[in-house]
Amino acid sequence: MLKINRRKFVANTVSSGAGLVLGSRLMGLTHKEEIFSDAGEKKRNLMQEVLKYRKIDTHAHVDEGSYRPEVNLDFADRLGIEKLMISDFIRPHTEGTPDDFRARNNFVIKCIKERPDRFIGTVVLNPKYGKASLEEIDRCRDAGMIGLGELYNQVKINDPLYYPIIEKCIDINWNIMMHSAIGYSRVALNLHEPENISLPEDFADVARRYPEAMFQFAHIGGGIDWENACKILKDVPNVFVETSGSNNEANMIDFAMKYIGEDRLVFGCDYSFYQGVGQIFSAKLTDIQRKKIFFENISKRLKKGGKDVD
Ligand SMILES: [Zn+2]
Repeated sequence: MLKINRRKFVANTVSSGAGLVLGSRLMGLTHKEEIFSDAGEKKRNLMQEVLKYRKIDTHAHVDEGSYRPEVNLDFADRLGIEKLMISDFIRPHTEGTPDDFRARNNFVIKCIKERPDRFIGTVVLNPKYGKASLEEIDRCRDAGMIGLGELYNQVKINDPLYYPIIEKCIDINWNIMMHSAIGYSRVALNLHEPENISLPEDFADVARRYPEAMFQFAHIGGGIDWENACKILKDVPNVFVETSGSNNEANMIDFAMKYIGEDRLVFGCDYSFYQGVGQIFSAKLTDIQRKKIFFENISKRLKKGGKDVD
């Protein structure tokens, strides 16, 4: 039998995975070797496919500890993520005073000044401090930020305290991205969730009240009952549903496509970069659908607010 150096064989082969398998059979390689070479080729092809798509991560975080900007960029570079919409969210179970949210927004402003080519800044605030929050929108807008997010649990999204803030976002065409709970409906609501956590019903409620406002329901992969969330948000056209999170159950994106559709789904990672990108590729999507979810849907929305990312 013809002996061939395995490494040379792989290096010299530029054919597809199928070609590799056929070639290895001809040379009498073991089944194990066949699988190995095929998997390697598939991985290479997948990364080429991944890098082919322009991407905006619509849910990213920065701070000086757990979510360092340079780590975000390192992941983004490897996965072909052009831009990241960053925030330093007000931590759950904290008061979220104006001093706190101003400091967090200041850090985001610093990041977008350092890397305006990569970072898009979004504002955090707390409607319990209504006047300070409205002023913070103006201050951060002047500093180049666009959009709200990731809003947290200090006040529910459909609480009247939010109305003036939503109305201001309508005036300036800002996207409003908010966190939602972990576990609900089939899955019992996590008992540790704060009292004012926003549920899918709350998003639907406020979005119907303000049909001109643009909402983004955060992370269906965040541990929520995503089937329930997609069903509740099915007929609410001004809510984008975002795909990020670390709970990447099979069929989640396909299910969301059925209920939410290609024009309202947006890609995000929430610091789970490989999962965030991988689950889009694990879904049965066309080239056009991937382009919309990775880039076009959110870029159109950002453009309405004056940010042209094309
Ligand atoms: Zn969140």
